[in-house]
Amino acid sequence: MKVTEKQLKSRVTELNLGVLKETTFGIKLERGSKGYNVSLVYRDQTAPEALLTDGSASEANACIEAIAATHKVFKQSMMGGLEKPGFLTNELFLKKSGESCPKTKCGSKDIIVGWGEKVGPGFNQVHRCSKCGLEFVKVYKLEGYELLGQSDGQQTV
Ligand SMILES: [Zn+2]
Repeated sequence: MKVTEKQLKSRVTELNLGVLKETTFGIKLERGSKGYNVSLVYRDQTAPEALLTDGSASEANACIEAIAATHKVFKQSMMGGLEKPGFLTNELFLKKSGESCPKTKCGSKDIIVGWGEKVGPGFNQVHRCSKCGLEFVKVYKLEGYELLGQSDGQQTV
């Protein structure tokens, strides 16, 4: 398949504004005197990374598609870590009163309480499942206070 410069450019634009939009890098395509240059440009201060210098159109195309494919795999594994049903959703975690290990395959209630940290009006406390070793943070939210011994109006604290 013969690839034109126009096709390459529109593919790069499509990727940069599409799947690569939420990443820290984009693809830069340049037509030099000897051929195509493809590089990764980062949105932070990282220096650009040249992937192809003076390549043919089909080499540039392969290079661009390789970036797209790599990103896809990368994203899937990232999403897999966060969203695969291997872990309880917050809703389910709350339904279980926050007593079970969030790893669905484990679900142990043998949880070790670790250090805690005040965060704004809330409180984060690290927990570790003693069965599978998963470490997670329970997020507590302050809802107010109640006075002790005031319910009958006779005692003060
Ligand atoms: Zn566990």
